[in-house]
Amino acid sequence: MSNSGGKTSALVQNSAAFQEASLEPTKEILAQWKKIHSAMRQEFGEAIFRSWLKPLTLQAYYHGTMEISVPTRFMRDWIQQHYGERILAMCTEANEEIKRLQIVVVQNGAIDDLVEAPEENEKAEKANQNKKGEIASVSSPLDARFTFDSFVVGKPNALAHAAARRVVESMSVPFNPLFIYGGVGLGKTHLMHAIAHQMEEMWPEKTVMYLSAEKFMYQFVRALRANDTMNFKELFRSVDVLMIDDIQFIAGKESTQEEFFHTFNALVDQNKQIIISADKAPSDLNGLDERLRSRLAWGLVADIHPSTYELRLGILQAKREQLQADVPDSVLEFLALKVTSNIRELEGALNRIVAHADVAKQEITLESTQEVLQDLLRAHDRRITIDEIQRKVAEHYNLRLADMHSARRARNVARPRQVAMYLAKQLTSRSLPEIGRKFGGRDHTTVMHAVRKIDELMEEDAQIAQDVDVVRRALTG
Ligand code: ADP
Ligand code: MG
Repeated sequence: MSNSGGKTSALVQNSAAFQEASLEPTKEILAQWKKIHSAMRQEFGEAIFRSWLKPLTLQAYYHGTMEISVPTRFMRDWIQQHYGERILAMCTEANEEIKRLQIVVVQNGAIDDLVEAPEENEKAEKANQNKKGEIASVSSPLDARFTFDSFVVGKPNALAHAAARRVVESMSVPFNPLFIYGGVGLGKTHLMHAIAHQMEEMWPEKTVMYLSAEKFMYQFVRALRANDTMNFKELFRSVDVLMIDDIQFIAGKESTQEEFFHTFNALVDQNKQIIISADKAPSDLNGLDERLRSRLAWGLVADIHPSTYELRLGILQAKREQLQADVPDSVLEFLALKVTSNIRELEGALNRIVAHADVAKQEITLESTQEVLQDLLRAHDRRITIDEIQRKVAEHYNLRLADMHSARRARNVARPRQVAMYLAKQLTSRSLPEIGRKFGGRDHTTVMHAVRKIDELMEEDAQIAQDVDVVRRALTG
């Protein structure tokens, strides 16, 4: 009670002092200020002027001090830090009596800074709560299942996973931005949500904004329409961690990119963590401004490779445990072998057979699995034939198609042939003997050996992994 009384009288006193001292700027100073203000447009450029400097208002002039107001604390600090010196220089040039620049925050006509509130901390905390609320309303919802605990780590995603953990566990910003990229359904969103969850746990006072690039654009356009970009900027520049998912979405959307670029730079300047995901490496993001592309590659770029058989099996095992479902190993192995396109589809396949068994009150077997997933497995087959695979592999390795069938055992021919067998096993539902026949009448054990060998090599040899990936993409893309 006594506190709030004290506060009110402080305000009254201050504004009385304000009038008494007759700090009202004279007409002359006002005219000078108008000139200086409009010269800022020239000096700093249109974009900066519109974003930051336009709302500057002359409040008072006294003893060589120009007192200028802005609507928020954040703007005050930002302007002070980035443009303060040059603005003062401009003032002094216009009128050498001006020696100091004082930027104050004026909200709804009241000078915020003059209120020396004893409960400063309380106020800051409240502001932080408000800010958190506002950020939560703009952030996209997080999937509670997407945690670090439920993320299965394997060779293809080890780097991205380690980087994600580093970002959460570091006291400072270890690299900026963290850029995670990879194909559809390989776990990018899962990792980002995991970071957000863990941040909340470890650093509850930090504000984390997570949203898709699409939503970022939507928010930006809405702010533009409502003539409210100031709030938009302020909000995005005030977070501790900004995560934008699927940045490729803003390719070709120039003004959104421009806005994002400024937000990005502002946050990096403040040493705030930025995390971006995309379906391609920064350099391959067509339709993205060159400046932005190079900026995105500044920090750590971590790619998630297409899954390997081991990782898929690991994920299925984890999922089986989670579902507490009675699924035989042979079924998991079958799925890991057959559903290679992405993890989402793999999970979907497992969910389907579990749900089916539940409803039909049947046990899950290899046969029932094949039956339930008939359409899915056929869709894979329809798209790709062994002939096609052989053609693409031969092309990739600069071999003749005949080498796929020939008996030649030279490494430079035999290895690509094994790659083709591996892909035939993965991308079609042909049996091992059928595949063997297509490769110059080889035995099914030869095919099995090839599949194992390539799976193994992909773990150890990045070149092979990449070759397989490139050909697979060419076939499935
Ligand atoms: P992306 O954003 O790369 O398209 P998602 O993160 O949405 O992919 O992942 C698709 C699905 O696969 C999600 O249900 C996710 O939980 C799951 N998933 C992907 N990678 C893994 C992993 N390593 N461990 C567990 N689940 C995973
Ligand atoms: Mg995603």
